[in-house]
Parts: sequence; structure tokens; C-alpha cells
Amino acid sequence: MAGMLSFPDVGQDYPEKRSPEQRAEDFSEISRAYAVAKAEEQSSRCSQCGVPYCSTHCPLHNHIPDWLRLTAEGRLREAYELSNATSTMPEICGRICPQDRLCEGNCVIEFSGHGAVTIGSVEKFITDTAWEEGWVEPIVPGPDKGQSIAVIGAGPAGLTVADLMRTRGYDVHVYDRHDRPGGLLTYGIPGFKLEKHIVMRRIERLEAGGVVFHTNFEVGRDASLDDLRQRHDAIVVATGVYKPRAIKAPGVGSGGVVEALDYLIASNRKGFGDAVPAFDDGSLDANGKNVVVVGGGDTAMDCVRTAIRQGASSVKCLYRRDRANMPGSQREVKNAEEEGVEFVWLSAPDAFHDTAGAVAGVQVAKMRLGDPDASGRRAPERDPGAEYRLDADLVIKALGFDPEELPKMFDAPELAVTRWGTLRVDHKTMMTSLDGVFAAGDIVRGASLVVWAVRDGRDVSERMHAWLKAKAVARVEEKAAA
Ligand SMILES: Cc1cc2nc3c(=O)[nH]c(=O)nc-3n(C[C@H](O)[C@H](O)[C@H](O)COP(=O)(O)OP(=O)(O)OC[C@H]3O[C@@H](n4cnc5c(N)ncnc54)[C@H](O)[C@@H]3O)c2cc1C
Ligand code: SF4
Repeated sequence: MAGMLSFPDVGQDYPEKRSPEQRAEDFSEISRAYAVAKAEEQSSRCSQCGVPYCSTHCPLHNHIPDWLRLTAEGRLREAYELSNATSTMPEICGRICPQDRLCEGNCVIEFSGHGAVTIGSVEKFITDTAWEEGWVEPIVPGPDKGQSIAVIGAGPAGLTVADLMRTRGYDVHVYDRHDRPGGLLTYGIPGFKLEKHIVMRRIERLEAGGVVFHTNFEVGRDASLDDLRQRHDAIVVATGVYKPRAIKAPGVGSGGVVEALDYLIASNRKGFGDAVPAFDDGSLDANGKNVVVVGGGDTAMDCVRTAIRQGASSVKCLYRRDRANMPGSQREVKNAEEEGVEFVWLSAPDAFHDTAGAVAGVQVAKMRLGDPDASGRRAPERDPGAEYRLDADLVIKALGFDPEELPKMFDAPELAVTRWGTLRVDHKTMMTSLDGVFAAGDIVRGASLVVWAVRDGRDVSERMHAWLKAKAVARVEEKAAA
């Protein structure tokens, strides 16, 4: 493939010979040729080892060695088709999966100390190329099933269900409380990790295929679960987890102590060009501020890196354990450090100082690691007498999320939940305690990953399809018997 691209004349008199437009074209051709060469080079590093730990550690069990081989041979379209066979959004997973914990972390070349094949980048490249070349097919719905499904939540789990069920010929309605579909792909994950047009073109493809999106529609406010059960033959709840974990410390209610998701949503909205009063008046803008982010997960990493991009004066990340025990991706920590974020390990907020109601600093308690807890992780405990103050004009709370109280919100007290508040499902059928109501994604697993939401969406579609087929057959038999 690389050999097929012709490079422009880049001789000594290049600047005089080429107009700015031509130079831009040359640049994009050269970048493209470079990307092709890089993808081929990386793919050819795959040893086709025959023990594809990479595939087994990919939640979608993508056929990684096979599409790497095809890419190395320049057979990009076939590589795309194979990668697309197991995933509804390979270019998105290729961008944002924590590959170091999944496929790439289990590459045998990585084990041999030579650095993993960059599987995620190749996956992204293959599908980006497919979009550019027009190989991504529109959705062609199968024969009309005469049955309709409701998907509550338009995140990766819900979008995957919409894609696979519409393709099977069902009438698909997706309800979401936001004004744009995409869930955390749209409003959580920052644009510098996942460009928004990449998400929107997936949604446009679904719309063009006949999926009906009902945005600004909150189940619990605009309809009860029961209302939707009357309108549709089956339902998938894919609402994610959105209750932020709280910090209990004096002064936490001061102005300028904000929730991570409010901060990230404001920043993502600005990226879409929306008017965002709380950003425009400075409350959710880190520009020129001393920012302290509390937490050590992926959300915290997104906040610190967004704050840097907004032009914060300083960005510190406060985490109560040490580097080795933090939940966020080590790759993300490295990126953040390179961008100028300072990590303050073994530290927790004790109180928030304010001046006239606005936060002015964080009183920090030093921690140390005690004995391992039930999960095997060493529990942090206070190191007495070691407190100090950090100046801060903006504090972002990023301690993770728990499920909202769905049975109450949906006015469905019979909807069973686990002791963590996630929806209880039968793991064989993926059905909740309510007949014909299925569930998938974070609302079942707790806060997890996009690739797991896609996997759940794939699995629940299969189970729901089987259930709907049986229901249709039973209906026909009932009619015949009557
Ligand atoms: C800041 C942040 C960064 C992340 N970064 C990464 C990353 O880099 N890589 C990765 O793999 N994972 C990442 N994750 C995790 C990942 O985004 C989630 O695991 C994934 O989005 C879960 O998908 P989902 O479809 O279950 O739910 P969501 O994506 O949360 O979507 C749920 C949807 O349901 C809607 N909804 C909720 N309640 C209702 C209701 N009552 N009525 C109607 N609609 C409703 C919401 O508006 C939302 O659109 C990140 C998470 C966060 C918070
Ligand atoms: S989906 Fe994620 S884990 Fe699977 S191959 Fe792609 S990047 Fe790796």
C-alpha cells in the first residue's frame, strides 16, 4: 500500500514551486504515507506466535494477529472487515482502550522485553482508513421483525445494541437525557483523547440506518419504565453510573470545589461550540488557576490533562495511595507528568480553606500504606502530624462514580439491584428481575471501560434477539390456537 502512494517533488526549490494549498496537500499525503508505513511496520512485528494472549485479553476477542497480518500485507480492506466483525466501534476502542492492561500488555513481544506491537494504533488506523475510503457500510436493516425495542442510554453499550438490533430488523428507539447521544464518549472523555467527530459519525450512521434517537428524554422524568414497557416489546437499560463519590471534609461546599463530570462536560461542550455559562463566567475554566484534582483514576487523569490544556497556572493531582497502587493507567500518568502535572502521592484532603466563600487552598493530610485490605491492596492510613496547605483556586473532585438509585428514579421498585446499587441480572439471559427488561454496560458492572460496554452490548443483543424470537413464535402459536 505504501508503495502505491507517489510523493511530490520535494527537491531544493520546493518552497517556490508549490503553493500553500499544494503544500498542505503534500503534507497530508506525506502524513498518510507515513501512517501507512508505520501501521505496516508495527503489524509486521507481530510474530504470529500462535498463542494469541492479545486476543484472549481483549474483551471483544478481536482477531488481532489476523488483522495485523493482513495490514502487514497491505490488505487493509480485509483487515478492516475482520476487525469490524467483532466490534461496533474499533476506531474508538483503538483510541481509548487502556491497551497496556489489555491486548498490548499481553503481547508476547512485550514479554520478551522488545515492546508490544502497538495494536490499538493499528486498529484505529485500519478503521479510520475504512471511513476515508468509504468502506464502512451503511446499516441495512434485515427484514422487518414487527417488534420494537427501547434502549435507555446512548453510551457505547446502548449504541452497540442499537447497531446490532437495527441490523437484525427491529424498530429501535434510543432514549437519552443528554442533548447529544454518545454517553461518556461524548461528554466524559476529553476531545484530545477521542475527537468528537469520530463519535458523531458513528451516531449519524445509526440515524441514517433508521435508529430513532429521543434526546433530552430522561426516563423517570419524561416517562416511567412502565410507560416504555407498554410501548416496546423489550428494553435495554444502559444508563451508566453517575452518582459522584463524595468527599467529607470541612469547606467542601466552597465555591470553586467542583465535580469532575461537571468540569469535563463543560469542556466538551465548549469543544462542540456550545454556549456554557458556567465556563464562560470562569467557574469551570482552569485558565490561570492553581488547580488541585483529588483522585487517582482515569477521570482524574482526564481532569488534570484538560486543566493543563486550558492554561492552568499549576495542576496538582492528590492521591491517597502511591504510584504503584493507583487505579488509573500508568501510561496516562506518564503522559500527564510529561505535560506538567505534579502528582502528590500519599495525600488526601483534610479540609478546604476559603476566602469569602471561594476556595483558596486545600489542607492536605499525609498518608502511609498500612496492611492489605480484603482486596489485597494496602489500605491508606493517616500519617499523624504531617499536614500542610496547598494553594488552590479550583478543586476538582474525581473520586469515581456509583450507580444512581434506578428503582426509585424509574418508579420501578421491583427492579432488583445488588448491594452496590448496580442492576441485578441473570448472567445467562442478561435480563433484570423484570420480564423483557435487559441491562448492559456500567449499570451492571459498575464503572468500567468502553470496550466492556461494547462487549455487553454485543452479548445482550444476542440474548434479547433470542428472547424476542421466542416471543414472536409464541404469539403466532397463540393466534393459531385461538
Ligand atoms: C471521565 C471519564 C473518562 C473515561 N475514560 C475512559 C477511557 O479512556 N477508556 C475507557 O475504556 N473507558 C473510559 N471511561 C469509562 C467509560 O466511559 C465507561 O465505562 C463507558 O462509557 C460505559 O458505557 P455505558 O454505555 O454503560 O454508559 P455511559 O457511557 O455512561 O452512557 C450512559 C448514557 O445513559 C444516559 N442516561 C442515564 N440515565 C438516564 C435516564 N434516566 N434516562 C435517559 N438516559 C439516561 C446518560 O445520559 C448517558 O448518555 C471513562 C469514564 C469517565 C467518567
Ligand atoms: S478493543 Fe481494545 S483491547 Fe481489544 S484489540 Fe482493540 S485496543 Fe486492544
